[in-house]
Amino acid sequence: MKKYFSLLLAGVLTASVLTGCGAGSNASSAKVDINSKTLSDGVLTVGTNAEFPPFEYVGDDGQPDGFDIALIKAVAENLGVEVVVENMEFDSLVSSIGSKTDVAIAGMTVTDERKQSVDFSTPYYSAMQHVLVPADSAISTYDDLKGKTLGCQLGTTGDFLIEDIEGATNQQYNKAVDAVNDLVNGRLDAVIVDSNPAGVFASNFQGQIKDLNGEDFGFEIEEYAIALPKGDTALKEAIDVAITTIKEDGTFDKLVDEYMK
Ligand code: GLN
Repeated sequence: MKKYFSLLLAGVLTASVLTGCGAGSNASSAKVDINSKTLSDGVLTVGTNAEFPPFEYVGDDGQPDGFDIALIKAVAENLGVEVVVENMEFDSLVSSIGSKTDVAIAGMTVTDERKQSVDFSTPYYSAMQHVLVPADSAISTYDDLKGKTLGCQLGTTGDFLIEDIEGATNQQYNKAVDAVNDLVNGRLDAVIVDSNPAGVFASNFQGQIKDLNGEDFGFEIEEYAIALPKGDTALKEAIDVAITTIKEDGTFDKLVDEYMK
């Protein structure tokens, strides 16, 4: 019944989205858009980097799990396609789209630079970079970060941000958790990482590290979206409708309750 209702809602949304597209759109349904080359095999191959809790991590069964994984599964169900998840390094996600993978979901921030290689879905989550410091650290402002040894995950917006901090030494790691371990071991002055994972890491090392809000450092709000192959507008349209549907039918909030603390 619930499913029937959400399908119905999807239909209604599609109708309005397609109307919005005006004449010339030959898409006929929100379900697998036949015009999407990417979806034509009925499989959505999704790249992720399962090192970014609570968005993606390796579950007890050894498979990628987390908010993003559940979200992309809900999107795929909405589109009527299967999901295959490929776990890889964050820095390879964008370049793998169109070859190894169809799309990527990885708490990925929409940036102008990435937009040169991929398209993005409608954003589904807002976040910000946070600063993790040792519990006894005096760091509290942007200026305090100048000249310090700062850790990040390679290829992330935290990495790009450190590059702009005057005199800072940028230590890049393949996994944010390795940076956090080096912070705890005294090898770094701070780690710059997205808000939700920062909260998870801080609670994993309670009493040892502090989670400082990036707002106090003048950092900007970032939007997470699904990275898509450039130019497959039918795929983008179908995924955007699916995200809207999932937000409107309560599925999104259910996933927030399930995965975010
Ligand atoms: N949001 C950050 C980015 O897009 C970090 C994402 C991640 O590490 N998974 O660069």
